[in-house]
Amino acid sequence: MQLQSGTMNRRTTALIITLTLLAALNTGCERPPTSVRAKNANTVMGTLAEVTADAYDRETAQKAVEAAYARLEDVNRLMSDYSDESEIGRINNLPPEGRLAVSEETCHCLEAAIRYAELSGGAFDFTCRPLIGLWKQAGHDDLLPTPEALDATRALVGWDKVRLSADTREVSRESPGIQVDLGGIAKGYALDLAADAMRAAGATHGLVNVGGDVRALGAQPTGEPWRIGVRHPFREGDLFCTIELFRGAVATSGVQERFNIIGGARYSHIVDPRTGWPATEAPAVTVIAPTGLAADAWATILSVLTPTEGKALLGEHPEEEIEALWIMGPAERPVVFQTPNFELYVIEWGER
Ligand code: ADP
Ligand code: MG
Repeated sequence: MQLQSGTMNRRTTALIITLTLLAALNTGCERPPTSVRAKNANTVMGTLAEVTADAYDRETAQKAVEAAYARLEDVNRLMSDYSDESEIGRINNLPPEGRLAVSEETCHCLEAAIRYAELSGGAFDFTCRPLIGLWKQAGHDDLLPTPEALDATRALVGWDKVRLSADTREVSRESPGIQVDLGGIAKGYALDLAADAMRAAGATHGLVNVGGDVRALGAQPTGEPWRIGVRHPFREGDLFCTIELFRGAVATSGVQERFNIIGGARYSHIVDPRTGWPATEAPAVTVIAPTGLAADAWATILSVLTPTEGKALLGEHPEEEIEALWIMGPAERPVVFQTPNFELYVIEWGER
């Protein structure tokens, strides 16, 4: 996914100027405060991030950008499964009877992960880490795992073997083989925390982009939406479509960035916990949701399910307010599925 700044068409510009004039008349001709934008790109969570904050003065805007980055770093420090020092790392290294009291942030994310695991019938499973490891190794060896290895690894996976006591925030595992991995949801949650931190630091509007997943803090100061480019999964550098976002979040899960190559074929970094195999359904799923957390989780869920299963599940959960776009193969002639209102967010379709 790629970001572009919004450009105003003439009609909207005229409308905004008129509204601004009216506002000025209403307030006894006081000039409305002007908005200042601070923007900064950086590497966080092993990927490129870009934070944009609008405020009434430069210092506040810059502080807001810093506050957003600090929150992104917090989530990485607490939830990275690469580090033994993170809370997730410590959970994964707990002795058999051990428990760990985690931060509010990790607790919230884990609670949400449990909810999405339950809601998706295990298509979302935050204990799939052993399977991720198996397929990563298969990529290194350029050899498919044996059915025996697959079965043995699958037996280690099961989100219902993680216990979280919400009041004490203590986490424990039913078996030491259980390995927690919030990779399918933590980034989205980090976007929400970063947006909250920007607002608390005085930003009036803003956008947080981590690796192409974005969360908006309102629209742009002009009232214009943010424009988010959805990358073409089969043509490097091309946009499949451009989305307008007045609020909320967009996340894309796809095989184009992270995958394992075995026997010349690409295998998704998302696994279907039910079969143990990499998800094969959709090369790319883009989700629009009220929060980054929901967008991220659903992008992972809908990558595992078929579009038909995914649409049915969304139908059972209108409260989630999800819109989704599935881009399926073949690469020469992509087939698209979308939820009924996805189209309302698209301002431009690229060439298919
Ligand atoms: P990214 O945006 O970084 O590509 P995704 O949201 O697509 O991340 O999620 C991919 C990550 O989620 C994997 O790297 C892995 O850590 C984790 N994951 C893979 N399959 C599942 C699954 N079925 N349920 C929950 N998490 C998963
Ligand atoms: Mg995800």
